[in-house]
Amino acid sequence: MNADFPLLVARELHKAYRKHKIEVPVLTGLDLTVWAGEFLCVVGASGSGKSTLLHLLGTLDQPDRGTILLDGERIDQATPRRRDQLRNSTFGFIFQFYHLLPEFTALENVLMPQLIRTSLWGYFWQRRKLRQRAIELLERVGLGDRLHHRPRELSGGEMQRASIARALMSEPRILFADEPTGNLDELKGREIIDLLRDLNRQQGLTIIMVTHNMDLVAPSDRVVRLTKGKVEAAPPLQMVLPPDGETVSNKQPHHPLIDPRIDPLLRKAL
Ligand code: ADP
Ligand code: MG
Repeated sequence: MNADFPLLVARELHKAYRKHKIEVPVLTGLDLTVWAGEFLCVVGASGSGKSTLLHLLGTLDQPDRGTILLDGERIDQATPRRRDQLRNSTFGFIFQFYHLLPEFTALENVLMPQLIRTSLWGYFWQRRKLRQRAIELLERVGLGDRLHHRPRELSGGEMQRASIARALMSEPRILFADEPTGNLDELKGREIIDLLRDLNRQQGLTIIMVTHNMDLVAPSDRVVRLTKGKVEAAPPLQMVLPPDGETVSNKQPHHPLIDPRIDPLLRKAL
């Protein structure tokens, strides 16, 4: 890794969604540079394209135009196989609604991507090692005493911790966090941010986090705001985001099995 060389670069990104022949432009020439080891907060009103940006950077989706470079490698037009590889090793994802598999325990949820990624035979070959690692990660996120609980037996904060452990299982270099505290109360949200911050500081994990809540931003973070499809200069810390009319309670959780936007994640998770 070269400290003088950016980890992730987005240039002139354009993305529009087409619905009923109406084109909705979301990103309109966005530029962003991310350095290794950064804790980068992406803020902006609801609908400003924050999730879209994360999906493009994380190869869950592709831009209409523009360039994305990871360590100098062009990834915006990578083959499906290369994108799978990136999602399975270089990138980790956590989301507002956790997307844990309800029928499986916390430990099984953390192990599941590895089981899917490797062949069944390969998995059994490494089973002890992988289990040990999954247990260590669950201990690391504070769930050492919840290994065999299913999601419905866990609190929201605990489910998000389990999803962080799942994301860490593949030792990602970049963790994308899309409103990871959006469904948690303030205290639990803060605990999750503290955990992410520790991972960033102690392990040098690069984190790109979308948040609505400027209270969660620390002075040491870099903040970029999305406005009109582009990155605007960092707003001052004390600036509170305008209310955008969208509260957590009126958001319906996506079901990962039926929401096509979650499908790539599910493929990773399974
Ligand atoms: P944010 O995360 O900042 O709230 P999004 O990136 O989710 O914003 O969405 C940006 C805009 O694109 C919104 O107007 C949203 O309705 C629209 N949009 C997002 N995903 C899709 C999609 N799959 N199909 C059509 N429109 C979409
Ligand atoms: Mg979003």
